[in-house]
Amino acid sequence: MTTSLKAALKTHFGFENFRSKLQEDVVKAVVRGDRDVFVCMPTGAGKSLCYQLPAVLAEGITLVISPLIALIQDQVDHLKNLNIPACSINSKLPAGERRLILADLGSSSPKLKLLYITPEMVASPSFQPCLTDLCTRGLLSYLAVDEAHCVSQWGHDFRPDYLKLGGLRTRLPGVPCLALTATAPKNVQKDIAQSLKLSSPLSFVTPVFRSNLHYDVIFREMLPNPYVHLHAFVKKSLALDAGSNAQGCGIVYCRTREACETVAYQLTKLGVLAKAYHAGLKAGDRTEVQHEWMQGKVLVIVATISFGMGVDKANVRFVAHWNLAKSLASYYQESGRAGRDGLPSSCRTYYSPKDKEQLNFLIRQEIGRRQEKRGSAKETDKAAITDFEAMVSFCMQEACRHATISKFFGDKTPNCAGACDYCRNPKAVRAQLEKASALSTR
Ligand code: ADP
Ligand code: MG
Ligand code: ZN
Repeated sequence: MTTSLKAALKTHFGFENFRSKLQEDVVKAVVRGDRDVFVCMPTGAGKSLCYQLPAVLAEGITLVISPLIALIQDQVDHLKNLNIPACSINSKLPAGERRLILADLGSSSPKLKLLYITPEMVASPSFQPCLTDLCTRGLLSYLAVDEAHCVSQWGHDFRPDYLKLGGLRTRLPGVPCLALTATAPKNVQKDIAQSLKLSSPLSFVTPVFRSNLHYDVIFREMLPNPYVHLHAFVKKSLALDAGSNAQGCGIVYCRTREACETVAYQLTKLGVLAKAYHAGLKAGDRTEVQHEWMQGKVLVIVATISFGMGVDKANVRFVAHWNLAKSLASYYQESGRAGRDGLPSSCRTYYSPKDKEQLNFLIRQEIGRRQEKRGSAKETDKAAITDFEAMVSFCMQEACRHATISKFFGDKTPNCAGACDYCRNPKAVRAQLEKASALSTR
């Protein structure tokens, strides 16, 4: 099966190989078609192919649910360019085109391979009969639910219409379902399985642990000169002293615009070209900075967390947090932008108790504001505080940093093998904590 799948991958998509063993395993499981499948892989890992390739190879039609018309349009265009018959039925579609599609779907052997719809469409009474008809004629190969975390209130992107998909499943008996997301936490996974009525699904989840990332924590206020310290870290991470033409680049995350400007200025003054990126810049300037960084003209981008979403750069050699991240989940995501190419990369947090107090205050203030608007408390409010506390513990604990992250996401303890400061030198971590506590009680 492997050889024929690879041949199909090449013929239809022009790829020589699967992106990863995981991607290949998912495709095989979907093609087998006897079980529901759950896929959790990070953005950019190639989740779409996990249903697109099986869809091309199947007899019938694959129904794909995706939350946004814009996302759907991109995918449909991409597939059409590859000569794969795909289309979308949505509220914006002219009546004529819609009629053509419905005629094809109603014919004895439809040409269409992938049909994309939004969850709103699922509930539309005009479309229901068409689906039921396809199903009874055995022409629905798969139901793929992309961005499946949208069913969960725990996710960052809850969409009430996604809750209708459970009902859809009941109306399409015998059609295997494939749920895909990049959002890992166990409570979200559980919601997905429940809402989509996945029956003992095969689960394919990218492990949380990434052995090429080296994590450490430095207490910023104990440093004689924090900027010089950061500069040394940048130089080492990018191997600037090794005389090599620096290939890699890095990101420094700060909480405020002012901090971005200051850090960028200080690094540049010390001899590493760094530029600030934040919402205070004109849109054009922001794009320019991002562009220069993508091209390697600027080695270090000093940014607020507005930077990075959808940025897929392979050779990011370090991610430094000048200020504490607001939760361990966001820290994992932000620091995880390092080392996408699999090469050793560094993730460092510059911890400061003052930062912690400020952030703690801001988070509680934000929750208070939300509760006032809503008139009640919510479990997700508590989660924001728990997740922040997990971030603080990550910095303050005498424990393997990788183990702390894996445990937070419900994964088993990984074999760190010296890929964090604690595992490399527990005494130094203890000494730093003791010094910090001595300073704070003085
Ligand atoms: P995700 O949905 O997981 O964020 P996508 O499905 O959008 O990722 O894919 C990300 C990119 O990876 C796309 O440009 C896609 O064409 C590419 N891709 C997917 N599979 C492969 C592969 N086997 N080889 C090379 N590129 C691939
Ligand atoms: Mg995707
Ligand atoms: Zn460790």
